[in-house]
Amino acid sequence: MRTKLMAVVVGAVLGVTGAAFAQGTPTTPAAAPKAAPKAGKAAATATAGKTEVTWWGHAAFVVKTPGGAVIAIDPWFTNPKAPQGATWPEAVDAILVSHGHFDHVGEAKALAQKTNAKVFGSFELVTLLALPEAQSMVGNVGGTFQVKDATIHLVEAVHSSSYQADPKAPAQYSGASLGFVIEIANGPTLYHAGDTGAFQSMALIAEQFKPTVALLPIGGQFTMDPAQAAVAAKLLKVKTVVPMHYGTFPALTGTPDALTAAVKKARGTAKVLSLEPGKTTAL
Ligand SMILES: [Zn+2]
Repeated sequence: MRTKLMAVVVGAVLGVTGAAFAQGTPTTPAAAPKAAPKAGKAAATATAGKTEVTWWGHAAFVVKTPGGAVIAIDPWFTNPKAPQGATWPEAVDAILVSHGHFDHVGEAKALAQKTNAKVFGSFELVTLLALPEAQSMVGNVGGTFQVKDATIHLVEAVHSSSYQADPKAPAQYSGASLGFVIEIANGPTLYHAGDTGAFQSMALIAEQFKPTVALLPIGGQFTMDPAQAAVAAKLLKVKTVVPMHYGTFPALTGTPDALTAAVKKARGTAKVLSLEPGKTTAL
């Protein structure tokens, strides 16, 4: 409800500005001096809008861009570390699902049904989710999609992927595991690695997309541990690493402190930004 009200207010403000500009242009002979403060105002608006990231524990994040795109990634909102009492985002544009394992698909289907969001992932996995065609954004490594001011690239991850829709039925092949690069206009370029080990082609991700913030798994056993994540951060050349996929279960033993120590030991320069589930951080 509040979001709708905000949209109305923003729309009204933009409408007024647009009307003023339309009226001012023909009646003002000196267009250039008028244009300067307008450009300044536009720039101020752009920098005022920040990209906000909320960690829901495990590999689940909700990203809000300055242009108003709401992107949920690996939305397992019922994981043991999820913020208590937090409510699902009401409006979601895109749901990115890295692979078919339950701790990444999570509540993707229910969230898509509730919000009408589009679901992005491998052709096989998104097909298995059996959503309406208009919501099924099937792709594979190399694919690029535009969601408002966010450009989303599907990239490689080194991990397995299968999907079990029914707990009594065998798991089904669900395509390649993916990572995501999200380039945000007037914002950072985020890289969500999904589940993966460190791999040499992270240097190619750095060369192609120049991510500034990497969301990296550090738990170990199924993914990188802190020492390997420190190597990954160097390959990616990112300024900031946000650790994820740790502490959810006893087996996922990596910690942000261990990552900080590993980055230092590897003589890396990335800053470790440890997020608290449910707390929104501006990037
Ligand atoms: Zn997995």
